[in-house]
Amino acid sequence: MPFYHIWTIGCQMNKADSQRIASYLEKIGYQASPKAEEAEIIVLNSCVVRQSAEDRVINKLGSLKSLKRRQNPILALTGCLVDSRVDDLRRRLPQVDLFFKPQAFFELCRFLEERGLALERLDSGLVPPSPRPSAFVPIIQGCNKFCTYCIVPYRRGRERSRPLEEIICEVEELASRGVREVTLLGQNVDSYGHDLPEKPDLAAILGELSRVDGLARIRFLTSHPKDMGQRLLEAMAQLEKVCEHLSIPIQAGDDDILRAMRRGYTVAQYRQLIERIRSAIPDIALSTDVIVGFPGEREEQFQRSYDLLGELRFDTVHVACYSPRPGTIASRRLTDDVPYEEKVRRREMIEHLQEGIVTEINAQLLGSTVEVLVENRKNEKWWGRTRTDKLVFFEDEADRLGQLVKVRIEKTSPWSLQGKVE
Ligand code: SAM
Ligand code: SF4
Repeated sequence: MPFYHIWTIGCQMNKADSQRIASYLEKIGYQASPKAEEAEIIVLNSCVVRQSAEDRVINKLGSLKSLKRRQNPILALTGCLVDSRVDDLRRRLPQVDLFFKPQAFFELCRFLEERGLALERLDSGLVPPSPRPSAFVPIIQGCNKFCTYCIVPYRRGRERSRPLEEIICEVEELASRGVREVTLLGQNVDSYGHDLPEKPDLAAILGELSRVDGLARIRFLTSHPKDMGQRLLEAMAQLEKVCEHLSIPIQAGDDDILRAMRRGYTVAQYRQLIERIRSAIPDIALSTDVIVGFPGEREEQFQRSYDLLGELRFDTVHVACYSPRPGTIASRRLTDDVPYEEKVRRREMIEHLQEGIVTEINAQLLGSTVEVLVENRKNEKWWGRTRTDKLVFFEDEADRLGQLVKVRIEKTSPWSLQGKVE
């Protein structure tokens, strides 16, 4: 069987798109390979949310030039690098055979079919293959928010929710194949359904999916602080299968910066929201995103972000140095005036703070018993995640793949936990 190779960077949405592409390629007769050199079809799934991600994609494309010359595999590029100026991309990247936007996956199918490269007929739906017991399920594409720094609404388009029945069918199918956990994806999952005739919401999906046999856990990301409603919190608190884990980006801890970012909330509102979440779901693990060095961010404004993170004590903080993205409001109207070295200093300060916080949070788990959904094996150890999304390693002779295992925690670090099966 000929091979395909997919290279993915960026958010979970890209990973979900890549799973879907892999599923299609397998259905038409190809087999996955970790090596680009042996593949007949190579798909690069790109990200341009930050300049550093875009640079990695361009480097990768450069490194594939000689392979293209030598072996002439089909090279397809998707993800957020592909915008409406495809002619421009074609000129810049002649080694690429096909550019398709993430929302235009059918173009890949058509391209391969027209060239007789679909070796087998596609006879059923495209539920992504999931070698792991955990799968991503996109529920809403695009974003309507237009935060001033963000390129996503320009590259992923406006919000489009998938019909509720379609999501339920996909999850039922996944569960029937052994998937135990689904993560529902969207740039802003709280907006789900506003564009559908019946206006279902995320709480409604959680209720429906809780009834799917075999499914043990449901997660979702990302939540927007402005849109997170009480109905969702109540659903999370009541529904057993919904995990105690939320990703709720704050982006900055200073009101003027939040306003310049057009986030639509103040620090006080965000703080109240975290209080509401923690009182509804006491054991919840919270994850957030922060940008440092946004245009005009003064030292004392950065300090407010730093202090807020110290006060709210998240389980995970993704911190990024601001980079201007073409076409965004911030890149057009604001000067990127915080020097790069200063952005890095601020990022490292937050990373250091967070390492201390999560060391303490995780240390509290010492001696406790957690439920782990086992996803794979690495260096003789099984690994999986807790309901709160903590990575856990343990040793066991038995085959534990896909099982929910009770593990007693014996060692903790900021990045993972280790324990023994109870
Ligand atoms: N929808 C989510 C939200 O509202 O926060 C996040 C989506 S965004 C694709 C993922 C993360 O990338 C953001 O949370 C932000 O921290 C970061 N990001 C987006 N644009 C950025 C930029 N221009 N510079 C640095 N980081 C950026
Ligand atoms: Fe980007 Fe803001 Fe939309 Fe998140 S909510 S994807 S940060 S525009």
